[in-house]
Amino acid sequence: MQIIAIYPGTFDPITNGHLDIIARASKLYDKVIVAVAVNRGKTPLFSLNERVELIGRVISEFTNVAVIGFDNLLVECAKQQGATVILRGLRAVSDFEYEFQLAGMNRRLAPELETVFLTPAEQYEFISST
Ligand code: ADP
Repeated sequence: MQIIAIYPGTFDPITNGHLDIIARASKLYDKVIVAVAVNRGKTPLFSLNERVELIGRVISEFTNVAVIGFDNLLVECAKQQGATVILRGLRAVSDFEYEFQLAGMNRRLAPELETVFLTPAEQYEFISST
């Protein structure tokens, strides 16, 4: 069975920290879909199209990674894409509480989706795009 992982985020803009997670995931899963959230709540610096285009350029070296934009519920988007794994990155303990709640909420909405956390290489732990 092909395992597709979806890596959602604002990516405003994509950083080497995000890219490090993408590179690790591309070795673990058959396909990785980077899903860029419109994220009206965060008023991003870059438009959705700009964020998607930037990611498209930097993922071209990976044959099994694709990028999409989405404006619906993450679990709906994941199902539409045939993903069974939601991928998130964890940098520090400070990420944990928020990510834990998010994973719990997504599990309630779609118990068949599994949230998986990856950590970046040490030099990227303190990189943030927001
Ligand atoms: P969101 O608004 O969903 O938090 P971000 O673009 O800030 O979107 O982050 C997307 C995902 O990438 C999150 O899981 C976040 O924890 C992770 N992430 C962000 N920066 C890094 C980094 N430097 N190293 C590893 N993971 C990161």
